[in-house]
Formats: sequence, C-alpha cells, structure tokens
Amino acid sequence: ITVLGLESSCDDTAAAVVRLADGQGQILSSVVYGQTALHAAFGGVVPEIAARAHAEKIDLCVEEALAASGLPLTSMDAIAVTAGPGLIGGVLSGVMCAKGLAAGSGLPLIGVNHLAGHALTPRLTDGLAFPYLMLLVSGGHCQFLIARGPDSFTRLGGTIDDAPGEAFDKTAKLLGLPQPGGPEVERAALGGDPARFTFPRPLLDRPGCDMSFSGLKTALLRTRDGVMAEKGGLTVQDRADLCAGFQAAVADVLAEKSRRAMAEYLTLDPAEPVLAVAGGVAANAAIRAGLETVCDEAGLKFTAPPLALCTDNAAMIAWAGIERFRLGLFDGMDLAARPRWPLDTSQPALLGSGK
Ligand code: ATP
Ligand code: FE
Repeated sequence: ITVLGLESSCDDTAAAVVRLADGQGQILSSVVYGQTALHAAFGGVVPEIAARAHAEKIDLCVEEALAASGLPLTSMDAIAVTAGPGLIGGVLSGVMCAKGLAAGSGLPLIGVNHLAGHALTPRLTDGLAFPYLMLLVSGGHCQFLIARGPDSFTRLGGTIDDAPGEAFDKTAKLLGLPQPGGPEVERAALGGDPARFTFPRPLLDRPGCDMSFSGLKTALLRTRDGVMAEKGGLTVQDRADLCAGFQAAVADVLAEKSRRAMAEYLTLDPAEPVLAVAGGVAANAAIRAGLETVCDEAGLKFTAPPLALCTDNAAMIAWAGIERFRLGLFDGMDLAARPRWPLDTSQPALLGSGK
C-alpha cells in the first residue's frame, strides 16, 4: 500500500508519500513548508495568513513529494488528508486539494484526524503493537491515551487548560525569544540553573492524570517581573535560569502524571508495555529524559519519534491513511473539515483540551 498524505492544519504545509511493505512503514518522501517567517512579526500564528499560505503552497508540496518519491500519482493507492482538528482555513485548503486529486485520479480519499497522525507515529517509526500508552504533547494538545487500534483511543486524562507547547511559546514571548518558543526555551535553558526560581507543579497533589499549565505561565510572568523590578532588566543568565526552571516544572509534571497513567495502562496487562510520546513538545530532551526515567522505574519501554516526526509533517498523515486503508475506512466527497475533533469519541467535542 502506498499513500500520499497532506497536512495543513496549523502553520506547516506538508505532503508525503509513505509505503507499507512487509509490515513495515517506509517514508518515500516528506516535504514540509514551514510558515514561521510569515508569522514572526505577529508573535503567533495568524489564521488568515496561514490559510492563504497553505492554499498557495499545497499544490507545490504535493508535486515535490511525488517527485521525491519517484512515483507518479497513479502509483498511489489512496490520498489521505488531515480533516481536523486545526485552524479551519488551513484544514480546508488541504481537504479541497485532496478532493481535487481524488476526483481527478479516481483514487480513494481518506480523512485523517491530525491527533491520530501524531498518536500513530510510533507504529510507523518503531512498529509498535497495540495497546500502547501515548502521551500526546503538542502546541494545542496534551493528553494520555491508550492506543487500542488505528481508530480506537481511550483518553485517560490531559490538560484542563493550556497545552505545554502553548506554555513554551508564551514563555518565549515573555522573555523576548522568537517563535515557535519550544526550541528557543530549550536552548536558553541549557545554560540555566533550574533551581534558582521555584515554579509550581500544578495538580500533582490530586489523583488522576489531569494536568494544568496555565498557572506556570503566570508564575513565569510574576517571577520575570520580580527580577526586572529588582535589577531593571534581564541578563542572559536570568533568562536561562527562568527557562530552565520553567522547563523543569513541565518535565516534572509530565513525568509524574505519566507514572499514574502507566498504572492505569498496566491493568490491561499488555504483552510489551510501552510509553510512546509524540507531538512537537516531545522534541524536548529534558522532557524525554524525565519520561525515560519513569519508564525505567516502571519497567516500560520508552519510545519517541525522531524530531522531524514530532512536529507537524505529512508522513504521519500518510501513515494514518495506510492504517485506515487496511481497515477499509474511506471517505466520500462529503468529507468535512473540522476545527474540533477529539480522538476519543467518548469525549464531547467541546470538553477537554486543545484547539
Ligand atoms: P496540535 O498538534 O495540538 O494541533 P501543533 O500541530 O501546532 O498542535 P506541533 O507541531 O505538534 O503542534 O508542535 C508545535 C509545538 O511544539 C509548539 O508549541 C512548539 O513550541 C513546541 N515545541 C517544538 N519543539 C520543542 C522543544 N524542543 N521543546 C518544547 N516544545 C517544543
Ligand atoms: Fe500537530
């Protein structure tokens, strides 16, 4: 099975060709056009600008992905596209393009949940078997899921307010660092002392694996203002210490809550217990290290995708398309673009975390 995947739900326009051969996923090509420069002046992603840029770039992306794979469109078995959740203008660009390609080629169309794309990535990269425990931690989401099948996820808990990616981005903004903030904060934290400032570890005193990150951003603002009031400005070292303290708090909360999610997951008695992490924040080395320690203690295997497959890409969408193809889950020309679309369908669309 060979599938062309399209992704345009946030600020990356992407297309990829992925093949399933001998039970193993293989990325034949993966093209990503980031929009960071377009949004830089605004301190965050501007939906209208994103939508226009997706509409402009998506055809080129598809052409380049096909060319790089060495295969023509007629060699594909299906076209998979992110149908949500995300910024609706961008999702529409991708869905329209995919419908056009499907109509023109006669290939089947497969709508993919962007979050399923992230959550199924470890099956592409590591061939994980179900059920595995997934910590999906990205710009708009943060949740523990038990992945039971390509279309079957149970949510154990997640953030009740901001996603950690959002908190990293806001932290960067408050400290005058560029967007996206995650990598910038991580880099700044390298030279910092995580113990100089104390940041809260919200909800650790409560049972379950729900989390909260909005208080952390307020704490950062207050601490920053305290330092500025005292010294009249921030030194490079102050900034590094603030970043290190903030990052350590996020890493601690994720690690501790993972411990609890694991306990719940282990009641399923999985043959090979695994915690997999995915989403942009999974690129963070301190967070990965924290999770790895907890896994070692609990006797779980830990996996994290390579960095390029943590942040948004179309290879994960093509792969999720392959998984749906194998289950015979196809969509018609009435495939809708959805701004909200929880992975766990037992969760109401307007509750829980994220965009
Ligand atoms: P969602 O998948 O929830 O719709 P998204 O697609 O915008 O959101 P991703 O592309 O998965 O999110 O991740 C982007 C987020 O990851 C940004 O908030 C970014 O700051 C964060 N991020 C990227 N690299 C790192 C890092 N090294 N450390 C911390 N955060 C990071
Ligand atoms: Fe994403």
